[in-house]
Amino acid sequence: MKRRHPQPPVALTIAGSDSGGGAGVQADLHTFAAHDVHGTSAVTAITAQNTRGVTAAEGVSPGLVRAQLDAVLSDFSVAAVKTGMLGSTEMLALVAEYGQADRLPNLVVDPVMVTTSGDPLFDGDPAAYLGELGPLATVLTPNLIEARQLLGREIEDLADMREAARALATFGPRAVLVKGGHLEAVASGEAAVVIDVLWCDGHMVDLRMPRVETRNSHGTGCTLAAAIAARLALEHPLVQAIGGAKAYVADALRAAADWRLGSGPGPVDH
Ligand code: PLP
Repeated sequence: MKRRHPQPPVALTIAGSDSGGGAGVQADLHTFAAHDVHGTSAVTAITAQNTRGVTAAEGVSPGLVRAQLDAVLSDFSVAAVKTGMLGSTEMLALVAEYGQADRLPNLVVDPVMVTTSGDPLFDGDPAAYLGELGPLATVLTPNLIEARQLLGREIEDLADMREAARALATFGPRAVLVKGGHLEAVASGEAAVVIDVLWCDGHMVDLRMPRVETRNSHGTGCTLAAAIAARLALEHPLVQAIGGAKAYVADALRAAADWRLGSGPGPVDH
């Protein structure tokens, strides 16, 4: 017997497809479903990918991305939006056009530029990300590598991360989450922790989580941004949405820690 749900809110992901199902649109739709949020999508690129890396990638034509956005936005009442792989400066401009027309509420921008395995996913100008989507974003979620590329500067420690969050915030997003997962684990008593820095409405806070030891972390960034969007669609206040999404990703990492899906870094349990 199928469970009866109340009518779910609707979220939209504008992102690339990962054929291995670990990241991208596939991770986003899994995450929306896990939050009982109806997921819609505009696919911007198709990647041939598994746990070992990306073997081919091609952008979807801007006309077809526009048609997907129009189809979804003309029929559904979309409550929150997440962007992932946009691929090119042209796609950034297209998404910005919809944002400027107030059609992308609660916009979570994950500035995807390169996979953890080192495969490029964006061939445009990193500065254009901030110019086009910074003013429209509710929250921007760069990892350290992306924050370095966006700002063109080194980020070596927590003080640099706070400085980077402040600098990124000047481009207009309401919140910036600089994710510290790529920084050496900081010892806090016995346990290693990961520290993210959140700038929101003029306030800076450090968000600490115990580091989950696992090689299966593929798609964590997508999952986090999608979980924030899902929680915003469920009308969680912004800081609670971000904190809750981080806890959700920590659970997703722990649950998949012993999985062996593919021979490389596998997906998390979205
Ligand atoms: N593939 C696609 C389509 C993505 O959007 C992303 C990240 O956003 C990745 C791969 C990267 O995944 P990871 O760096 O977590 O391996």
